[in-house]
Amino acid sequence: MLIDLHTHTSFSPDAKSSPEEMCARAAELGLERFAVTDHCDCNYWLPAEEMFPGGIPEGFRDEEMCGVRDYAPASIRRIAELKERYPFLLCGIELGQPLQNPSAAEQILAMDELDFVIGSHHMNAGCADFYWMDYRSMDISGIYRLLETCFEEICQMCRNADFDTLGHLTYPLRYIVGDCGIEVDMHRYDDIIREIFRTLAERGRGIEINTSGLRQKYGRTLPDAEYVRLYKECGGEILTVGSDAHCTADLAAGIPEGLALAAECGFKYIAFFENRRAGFIKI
Ligand SMILES: [Zn+2]
Ligand SMILES: [Zn+2]
Repeated sequence: MLIDLHTHTSFSPDAKSSPEEMCARAAELGLERFAVTDHCDCNYWLPAEEMFPGGIPEGFRDEEMCGVRDYAPASIRRIAELKERYPFLLCGIELGQPLQNPSAAEQILAMDELDFVIGSHHMNAGCADFYWMDYRSMDISGIYRLLETCFEEICQMCRNADFDTLGHLTYPLRYIVGDCGIEVDMHRYDDIIREIFRTLAERGRGIEINTSGLRQKYGRTLPDAEYVRLYKECGGEILTVGSDAHCTADLAAGIPEGLALAAECGFKYIAFFENRRAGFIKI
């Protein structure tokens, strides 16, 4: 059984394959459920000076974000059309930083084609994406402060934003630990992460096992088994799995490992969303 609920197409500024190519590959792989979840980083809808009131951070590539506000609705409309041809296809979106621009989030969430919404946090308010930051030039206390703000903002998002599953909880570790080899003591965030999980469980939202880390230097899922277990302890029942593929070659990559990890952590079912309602498939 293969299911991939986190993928990008050429409607994401950092992805290559067209929706048609991704769907054809998903059919070839025999995916049972396949969601396209192109990027909608809500704060990118704002002019750069409004996004970064303290000054535009080094590394921010304004030109890469040109037209980004049109991408998300265009993706949703195109995927909704393709659903007729591909019955396993789900129309999703990766909604980034919804609280940093609530009106953008509202506009996207009002589109009734949507089956599924991933809530993601790629950047702290007023900061560049974790992807762009230069951790080697920071001292460890600066990195800890960044992570503290990151989990606080994720917690706020879990309390106040509308989405179905929380994307890649440990996203910054892909770069801090994986790419830069800087080890961090994650236990200092145990309380806030527990709070995130309890809030999600209470609100009937899920978390995802994002398998992209398995094929990157980080070498672990985002989040890893320790947090998937903690989520279960905190009452979490809805768990999704996604490759975060940005091209056909990565579609469904690491999904069998992600499902095995879910089972190992005590989950008997993996979730998918159709028309914003959870359905469950036995692992
Ligand atoms: Zn993401
Ligand atoms: Zn993604």
